Amino acid sequence: MILPNNFKAEYQSIQEEVKAKAIEVLESGWYIMGNELESFEEEFADYIGVKHCVGVANGLEALFLSLKALGITSGDEVIVPSNTYIATVLAISQVGATPVFVEPNIETHNIDPNLIEAKITPRTKAILPVHLYGLCADMIAIKAIAEKHNLVIVEDAAQAHGSKIGDQCAGTFGNTGAFSFYPTKNLGAYGDGGAITTNGDALAKKIRLLRNYGSAKKYHNDIVGYNSRLDEMQAAFLRIKLKHLDSWNDLRRKSALELKSQFSDQQWNWQASPDNFHHIYHQLIACSAERDQTIDRLEKNGLKCLIHYPIPPYKSDAYNKMYSGHSYPIADNIAQTIFSLPLHGYMWEAK
Ligand SMILES: *Cc1c(COP(=O)(O)O)cnc(C)c1O
Repeated sequence: MILPNNFKAEYQSIQEEVKAKAIEVLESGWYIMGNELESFEEEFADYIGVKHCVGVANGLEALFLSLKALGITSGDEVIVPSNTYIATVLAISQVGATPVFVEPNIETHNIDPNLIEAKITPRTKAILPVHLYGLCADMIAIKAIAEKHNLVIVEDAAQAHGSKIGDQCAGTFGNTGAFSFYPTKNLGAYGDGGAITTNGDALAKKIRLLRNYGSAKKYHNDIVGYNSRLDEMQAAFLRIKLKHLDSWNDLRRKSALELKSQFSDQQWNWQASPDNFHHIYHQLIACSAERDQTIDRLEKNGLKCLIHYPIPPYKSDAYNKMYSGHSYPIADNIAQTIFSLPLHGYMWEAK
């Protein structure tokens, strides 16, 4: 059976380096805010093509601290796609702002820029596009809208490590990009982790304060901060894995194209990848009117599928009272028909 992930095969391919690094960090006697983090931040900023990277505790915190640093607060509205993973929406709630849902384009599954302006009010402060499944949202159109209406942009790049429009990476278009290193992501730690990318000098400085108790100098606290740090062990592992990211992304793309051609006779709607967009296939998704039967049939043929995501955030118990009376038919339709084929860099190896 080909499973949605094969963490062991990936680990085995780099285990000598990982074990040696783990011992090096353990024996260093320095576990938080040290050289490994500093080096990872430089290397990831270089890879993405931004001036600053700030390591944080996880992807949700990367979104939350981005919004916080940009001054988004209660009474503000933040535009977000109706079909995202719930963490995107939770970050908006955590700063006290109101999520305003905009439907996705049914073909790309990303927020439809043509529907954004109708949702802008005097309270709107930010747009939070998501690069869903590894495909960049239409950042060119979104940036034009943000500039016209004086809004900031936080990119949810949790599924988009190395995804590009032209030669520009996800995480460089907005005021900040928020990355997750949860183990299932294209760049995953051996635990939780996250990072914020930005070209803003003052913004990076603010985020560095916020992630560490509001403190730049020990026992001197400039602002009311949080504890949201990326530890030395995870930073060290991420440095090793970053060197493999492009080749792992290539393996995913190759496998995605193989699966798409293997099932080209099916009446499924694949996620459309526009010209000039470099999809990194965090997930290979399709929509089928007979979703449940399709998943059963694929499982009988040795392919274990998952659903990302079966319930749109506005319909979750956490939000359905707040959004009673609202309806997002495109998000509903996607949630009822979507499924993810198994996809990772080690598809055809140890089953
Ligand atoms: C994984 C993910 C997050 C949250 O990342 P964590 O590290 O799990 O907190 C946020 N948004 C999207 C789109 C994700 O896929």
